[in-house]
Amino acid sequence: MSFNLAELNLADHAFTVPGSSYIMALDSGTTSVRALIVDEYDDIVAQASKPISVSYPASGWVEQDPMEILASQIAVMAEVQFKSGIHSDRIAAIGISNQRETCVVWDRDSGQPIYNAIGWQCRRTAPIVEGLVEAGYEEMIREKTGLKLDPYFSATKIKWILDNVSGAREAAEAGELMFGTVDTWLIYNLTGGTVYATDYTNASRTMLFNIHTLDWDDELLAMLDIPRSMLPEVRWSSGDFGHVSSEVMTHMPPITGVAGDQQASFFGHCCFERGDTKNTYGTGCFMLMNTGDEVVRSDNGLIATIGIAEGGKVSYALEGSIFHAGSVIQWLRDKLAIITDAAETADIARSLSDNAGCYLVPAFSGLGSPWWDPTARGIIAGLTAASDRATIVRAACESMAYQSYDVLHAMEADAGVKLESLSVDGAASRNEFIMQFQSDLLGIPVVQSESVETTALGAAYLAGLAVGYWEDREELAQNHARGRRFEPQGDAEDTARYLAGWHDAVARTRTVIE
Ligand code: ADP
Repeated sequence: MSFNLAELNLADHAFTVPGSSYIMALDSGTTSVRALIVDEYDDIVAQASKPISVSYPASGWVEQDPMEILASQIAVMAEVQFKSGIHSDRIAAIGISNQRETCVVWDRDSGQPIYNAIGWQCRRTAPIVEGLVEAGYEEMIREKTGLKLDPYFSATKIKWILDNVSGAREAAEAGELMFGTVDTWLIYNLTGGTVYATDYTNASRTMLFNIHTLDWDDELLAMLDIPRSMLPEVRWSSGDFGHVSSEVMTHMPPITGVAGDQQASFFGHCCFERGDTKNTYGTGCFMLMNTGDEVVRSDNGLIATIGIAEGGKVSYALEGSIFHAGSVIQWLRDKLAIITDAAETADIARSLSDNAGCYLVPAFSGLGSPWWDPTARGIIAGLTAASDRATIVRAACESMAYQSYDVLHAMEADAGVKLESLSVDGAASRNEFIMQFQSDLLGIPVVQSESVETTALGAAYLAGLAVGYWEDREELAQNHARGRRFEPQGDAEDTARYLAGWHDAVARTRTVIE
């Protein structure tokens, strides 16, 4: 294990209460893996993280080494115990949140992966997807899985491995292979191969899972020629996923919480009721709206997914994403070189009292929901001789709020729900200008999470509920510390003018390139 004891901050001991117990949350992300220790008041008392590598072996291909993911995850689990002085005898339970859709296939006997993990961003299966579209499967897939037929989801990645790795198809048919998303890969290995399972939220991202019957779907499996024997058992997100083996943690705590990262964050925000909605402002934006027991069919290209699977009940969600959000700020820094640090953008934007009619539409790789125009390209509209760096920085900041407005507005229309407030997290949610502007546009309060770690907290909540560490959702909601709240202050006329200007600029991106 590659952590350095000399670098550990043992002062973390001061935060812990002797004798009390804690929850460990694992956050297995795309570019780093982390382990956090959470106390009963939701406070994160220690954490450790380690970057993991991503490789791009061909254009549009994305791979990761499953062994590196596993070894790094185990390393940070050990590191956080040393750091905090909280060892496995005081860990009441472990929760896992993970990058979704990424596909690992391994040999049942040896436990060795037969190919690298194929990452969620990987586009290599586009030809398989085109074949499925031509064969007329799109509607059936949407009906059963809630998803849009796309290489993003795991199913076509599994098929690619079976079709392209020598001997894989025969081995799969002989029942010798196991598939898992990253949660399953971790659970299987952390429990010493005794538990082969995933949870409903991760299963709902594979494009093989029927979100109505809550089971793997034979028609989808037949469509892609994937044997059922290579699929894990699907369990509730809060419940029994076995015990960590003594080789990994001496006192073998139980794993009792599992959810895909966006769903973990959704739970971490306590979005328990129909209509509750969160938006994560990171490189892109990820929005989830709780639609209760209804699978909402979107007219705006949003997907339906399992949002929460806890307490013997599934809550569905509408999910929308924006490709370029915080990345626009990175673009200002790295390509235009007009800022040096993302943190300065709020003050620069606020130095102007108005956007002076200037709009930046970051359709760098087309327009997503609700427009769905892959050929659209970005634009800065409304420049005058008076426009300067601040004008462009403000337009870039505003673009995150407008894009989120459009998706949230579409969600409201699809679900027939009126948003009452928006819970936010992610690095760009710390930008006070953007959050105020978002609140003004939507006309509802925008509420920051106090902790930036809502994903890890959600995994901890799920694990803690299963072992009685927290009693119920009510207790979680009461404990849950909310951060700053932005109340709408915008003048209705200004808001209408801003939105009209934005939509005019969006329309222009669609005619720039045919
Ligand atoms: P991810 O998990 O997607 O990597 P983060 O939540 O760490 O993302 O967010 C990183 C993104 O947020 C970067 O694209 C960065 O440009 C943007 N960002 C960070 N701080 C700010 C800020 N104060 N204002 C606007 N954007 C920001």
